[in-house]
Amino acid sequence: MAQRIGIDVGGTNVKIALVGDDGKIIYSNSIPTRAEMGYEYTINSMKEAIKDLLKETKLQASDIEGIGFGFPGQIDCQNGIVRLAPNIPGWVNVPIAKIMEEEFSIPTRVDNDVRTAALGELNYGAGVGCQNLVCITVGTGIGSGLVINGKLVRGASNAAGELGHIKLNMTGGPLCGCGDRGCLEAYASGPSIVAMAEDYIRGGKSTKYRELANPEITPYIVAVAAKEGDPVAKQIFRIMGEYIGIGLTSVINLLNPEKVIIGGGVAAAGDILFDPIKETIAKRAMTIQKEAVEIVPAQLGNTAGVIGASLLINS
Ligand SMILES: [Zn+2]
Repeated sequence: MAQRIGIDVGGTNVKIALVGDDGKIIYSNSIPTRAEMGYEYTINSMKEAIKDLLKETKLQASDIEGIGFGFPGQIDCQNGIVRLAPNIPGWVNVPIAKIMEEEFSIPTRVDNDVRTAALGELNYGAGVGCQNLVCITVGTGIGSGLVINGKLVRGASNAAGELGHIKLNMTGGPLCGCGDRGCLEAYASGPSIVAMAEDYIRGGKSTKYRELANPEITPYIVAVAAKEGDPVAKQIFRIMGEYIGIGLTSVINLLNPEKVIIGGGVAAAGDILFDPIKETIAKRAMTIQKEAVEIVPAQLGNTAGVIGASLLINS
């Protein structure tokens, strides 16, 4: 049986897993990223974690078919280099695949983390059986992994899938992290939920989430308030869902996918976000495309990244 290692690198933690042929996690571990110590520190911790994995599972390096890494950032997939990872300071032009291949003599691949999550959902999660898939994560930002004709879409320079930067406004709108204005991500993501919630408080609206705030307002607190029936919190998620629904309408019209899979921290809010997304798409997408598409929650949760990364060696 082929066994592969999947590694999901985040700003806070690195998740490491041994994944079997059937997509099941055989062994998993998590270590702190400690980006402030420099990228060499994180690389050494990851090497140690892989050695621990081999020891604990009584495997040799030659038993492992491949190692795959998912990184939040711009990746040169062909050459296995992390070009830039904005949330992990210090990771600029790091040839991670070569470093690991020299250490373990195991073929190693690297890709963007949202793309690896899409690969995980495609093979073992909500996207099983699909040929055309849009997988989005809604959290601090909005990212996506696209699958067309059963293959991950990477683009001319590995940057395809920036769904969060679809423009919703011709002349202005809120400033986005990309430097432009009016992007979907600037209207609908974790920070915009918080900004809208604070605006309502300043406007004198009495709201449940103000009582729940401890002391900051978080997207999670607004979601709890919405589920408890707070009308202002419900309205915030309705507006978020409409924005995401409008952005997805363009993508659905363009790509004609069978499924849109939505995951990420903000998406955990469930129906209060999914209902307005679905209603907006039902109202605004083109007939043939909308009849073909199903909007579903991600299934693999926070294991999608390691499972998908483990599959990079064959994709
Ligand atoms: Zn943008």
